[in-house]
Formats: sequence, C-alpha cells, structure tokens
Amino acid sequence: MSRAALQEACACRACGWALDGPGWLGDRPTHAICDCCGAEAGVDDTSVEATRAYRRTWVERGAEWFDPGCRPVRWSLYEHLCSIDAP
Ligand SMILES: [Zn+2]
Repeated sequence: MSRAALQEACACRACGWALDGPGWLGDRPTHAICDCCGAEAGVDDTSVEATRAYRRTWVERGAEWFDPGCRPVRWSLYEHLCSIDAP
C-alpha cells in the first residue's frame, strides 16, 4: 500500500481526522473509532449518504470531540471541515 493510499485509508470518512489505523481493509471495516467525531468504521460510514448524515448530525450537535484529549490546541471546526477530502 502506498503512503498516500495508507493516509487515505486512515482518514475518518466522516470528518477526515487521521485514525490510529485504517478504518477499512479492502471492503472489511476495522471498527476503528474516530477520536474527533466518534464515527465507527463499518457502522457510521457504510455509505456516502450515511457518512454525510453522520457528519451533519455531529456538526449540528456542536462538533464535540469524542476524545477531547486528542483535540489539537489550535483546532478549528471550520478549517477541519475545509480540509476534508470526502464526498
Ligand atoms: Zn471523524
């Protein structure tokens, strides 16, 4: 797997945050949970529609961090959403 592909595989599908490992291995989800939005690979991101719906709900609820300890000091929701390379 190339570095770019690995980076893409490790990005949360809902919010783009870098997961600890790939959320999906081929078509099998690893059930990795995003530190940022709390989306679970294989549960909340099984389709483009489901992923969008999850992201929308998360933002509407105030974009709370699933694990606030992982939140960068200068984190900004706006910049974060702008950096998402997601459908
Ligand atoms: Zn996420």
